[in-house]
Amino acid sequence: MPALSPIRTAEVIAVGSEMLGTTRVDTNSLHIAARLSSLGIELRAKTVVGDDRGDIASVFRQSLERADLVVLTGGLGPTDDDLTREVVAEVLSLEMHEDPAIVQAIEQRFARRGLQMPPSNLRQAQVPEGARVLANPRGTAPGLFLEHGGRMIAMLPGPPREMRPLLDELCKGPIGARAGAERIYRASLFVAGRGESHVEQIVQPIYSGWRDQAAPIATTILAAPGQIELHLSTRDANPEIGRRRIAAARDALAAALGEDAFSTDGRSMEEIVGALLAERRYRIAAAESCTGGLFTSRLTDVPGSSAYVYGALVAYDNRVKARDLQVPQELLDQHGAVSEPAALAMLEGVLRATGVQVGVAITGIAGPGGGTPEKPVGTVVIAVAVPDKPPDVRTYQFMGDRSMIKFWSTQTAMDRIRRLLK
Ligand code: ATP
Ligand code: MG
Repeated sequence: MPALSPIRTAEVIAVGSEMLGTTRVDTNSLHIAARLSSLGIELRAKTVVGDDRGDIASVFRQSLERADLVVLTGGLGPTDDDLTREVVAEVLSLEMHEDPAIVQAIEQRFARRGLQMPPSNLRQAQVPEGARVLANPRGTAPGLFLEHGGRMIAMLPGPPREMRPLLDELCKGPIGARAGAERIYRASLFVAGRGESHVEQIVQPIYSGWRDQAAPIATTILAAPGQIELHLSTRDANPEIGRRRIAAARDALAAALGEDAFSTDGRSMEEIVGALLAERRYRIAAAESCTGGLFTSRLTDVPGSSAYVYGALVAYDNRVKARDLQVPQELLDQHGAVSEPAALAMLEGVLRATGVQVGVAITGIAGPGGGTPEKPVGTVVIAVAVPDKPPDVRTYQFMGDRSMIKFWSTQTAMDRIRRLLK
């Protein structure tokens, strides 16, 4: 028999009408993508399909044409609308037979709870010829695994806690055995202070050359809240070469982007800023108006942040700015609370009150109300102080809804601190 070619591509079919509605989403495919990726198997497409015989059949036929491995989840239950195993058997023209061992296992499962197995559960004991049965100790529906015409087909239960161990078993077993030597190597860069098209302009001439190499490096640019993300991936059979190639590609992009590339290892802005503060043994305190504490909340999302987060004052009402930060009332009357003088006075106030080395003040109009022609919604003033530099104050105009403006304010404040500490 000729050796079977390695499995390199996969598709996922999530079966269940509930996931076509408005309340349930398919999360299994995310887990499956991650698990297969660790074997160098690339997920090429995924589909959510309702509990309909014709729809499942047509989606399954298409996936079989395109991918080396098709993973179906859901639709293995005991009820009439659980069609996965029947449809797969039909499409592949496989006979089904009842497996007495499965019948026994399900009967025992019911017996442990003092119940009798309803006859409908016999459906779950139907096995297409040639299929391997995957015992599912956490549920009644066993998984099924088939090799057919050089392809692999896995049918796994829908509930994530039942699906995962069965997938793992297959990945350690037959799927892993045919996965081949190539593995996927990934790297990412996060960029602040530039828009998506500007980033693209800088990096495109570099990565366009990688696409046509003998060992290509794929690049994706994503606009995420507060940052542009570059994701790189490549395949290689040699781990050392794979890691070296992907690191060199990442470094080339990082060099072209300079200071704007704030993270080259997947760490978030709050982790990067936290690490800079910790390294320098600085403590930080914030005076937050429009961000309502979000700046400090994000910093404290990082484990170990007690080493450098001193605290925050949410100075939302002007009376708090005046009373607790000693921002002069005349200054607020003259310039308004959203102004560079007010932000600087808030900064001074929080540094005076805490005695820490790094201070931040954020004041702005998050909307949707409160904007004026001179200070429209999205106007945010950020003042930052770090040792040995004059206070840095800037006025920004952020876009988006209230929560986006608050997020951008915190991201930009962290980015200012990062650049000033560097
Ligand atoms: P069993 O009969 O053992 O529960 P099943 O294969 O029939 O298995 P389904 O009835 O299709 O499973 O789904 C059971 C539960 O699993 C549903 O509540 C559903 O929310 C969840 N589920 C199904 N598919 C997915 C999916 N792709 N991602 C996340 N959850 C899922
Ligand atoms: Mg279902």
